[in-house]
Amino acid sequence: MHRRSFLIGASGLTLVAVSACTSPQPTPTPTVTPTPTPELAVPRPARMARSSWGADPYAGGAFSYLGIGSTPDQRNTLATSVADRLFFAGEATSIALPGTVVGAQQTGVRAAIEVAVVATPGERIAVIGAGVAGATAARHLTDAGSTVTVLEARTRTGGRIDTTTDSDWPMPVELGAGFLDSVSAAATEATLTALGVITVALAPETSTRTPDGLEVTPSTIGAETVKAAIAAALPLPGDITIATALLGFPAPDPTPGEGGVSPADWVNEYLRNDLQLRFGAGADELSAKYALTDGTRTVDRIVLGGFAKLVSEALDGIDVWTSNVVSRIAHDENGVNLRFATGESLQVDRVIVTVPLGVLKARSILFEPQLPLTHIVATTTLEMGTVDKIWVEFDEPFWSTDAVRWSVAGGDLDITEWVNLQPATGSPVLIGLVGGERAAAIAELDDDQVVDRARRSLEPFLTA
Ligand SMILES: Cc1cc2nc3c(=O)[nH]c(=O)nc-3n(C[C@H](O)[C@H](O)[C@H](O)COP(=O)(O)OP(=O)(O)OC[C@H]3O[C@@H](n4cnc5c(N)ncnc54)[C@H](O)[C@@H]3O)c2cc1C
Repeated sequence: MHRRSFLIGASGLTLVAVSACTSPQPTPTPTVTPTPTPELAVPRPARMARSSWGADPYAGGAFSYLGIGSTPDQRNTLATSVADRLFFAGEATSIALPGTVVGAQQTGVRAAIEVAVVATPGERIAVIGAGVAGATAARHLTDAGSTVTVLEARTRTGGRIDTTTDSDWPMPVELGAGFLDSVSAAATEATLTALGVITVALAPETSTRTPDGLEVTPSTIGAETVKAAIAAALPLPGDITIATALLGFPAPDPTPGEGGVSPADWVNEYLRNDLQLRFGAGADELSAKYALTDGTRTVDRIVLGGFAKLVSEALDGIDVWTSNVVSRIAHDENGVNLRFATGESLQVDRVIVTVPLGVLKARSILFEPQLPLTHIVATTTLEMGTVDKIWVEFDEPFWSTDAVRWSVAGGDLDITEWVNLQPATGSPVLIGLVGGERAAAIAELDDDQVVDRARRSLEPFLTA
């Protein structure tokens, strides 16, 4: 991409220079020879679906991460109730499992218990947000006898669990959460199975290739280098980014190794295919001291039967008002007044706020009185990362591997991490994952461009 725009820019510059040196009469019509688009060897997919979480006004990104200036304790600060009227839940308030479905669920239970401790019988409780945290809180309070209303901005429930069920696809498409790691699997698998939602174990086989399609042995150089750089940064009095911590180390060796992949390439591969997808942010944004304390996000099982059922089932029988954007939350000793974007309002006794950190950071909800300074500092310093998914289904497989996880080391392809659903489902469906600035760049493209980027990025996996 960068190379091509450079070439077009350069030819434009040449034309200007030539016309400045020649007589104005007659003016030749400048013709620019278009840069030929190289043929894409990977076939066009039958269909494509993609997310764009960074541009989503009701999410503001995929999940929270710890950037410079933030600490895990700020998640507790964000979770702290205000005047026994405002309570907070959502993945960003989870210390144990931020950025996960299970972490969000746990915060919903915690907030429901906090409300139950202070509420008196007959009170009306509102839950803002019908994601998994809000649905869980609403379920617990309803089961305990409270009258609960869930207020949701979107036309659908589920929030960052975003299942699209379309008969054109061989399975429900998950554009938000879609995998269970070992911790989540233990906590959620039984619930999902009881709901009839299939989850399938993903075999650990990985195919790591160079951009030329050469299979290479995955290396731990990247993980080890970053770990050592972080260990060296920990005793420093302040915090620095992981990128800065790496600068304190000798630059990784750029000499090509197996398949032409150098140690420097392996460090980049780790930063991009691991950290950027785990946190949705680059090494130049992640806190060296704290970012990795948020735990790992391994991919152990994939949810194939519609993750959103977890939320819709929890909300069964509960009063949910979709398409209701809360724009102001005002509280006093008498209760909480909620105003909607439509101008209408609702009076309740207490409220559980589960909107994503990205919504709080954007200040799209006005709090009256304003939130305590500690909350404001937490919303300002905790950050939202972005991860997007690109689902593609092909008429038939063109690839030469049964591995479930594919990654590309070295080079500059746009999408370097893929999950192959064919071994688990029999359908030639691939999921591309992009994070951080790559996700932001891809989000700018139209669907045709994204399809072409996906096809180009999949070339290393073409059958030889
Ligand atoms: C691409 C992607 C992949 C992910 N992969 C995984 C994974 O594999 N495994 C995993 O465990 N987790 C994963 N996650 C994280 C997981 O989806 C979230 O941690 C979890 O769903 C968050 O739930 P929540 O209830 O805290 O927030 P949300 O689900 O975002 O719920 C908040 C709700 O508030 C609503 N809202 C926002 N503003 C307003 C307003 N003004 N008024 C009313 N309502 C409002 C939103 O519409 C939303 O429905 C992924 C997330 C993304 C985006």
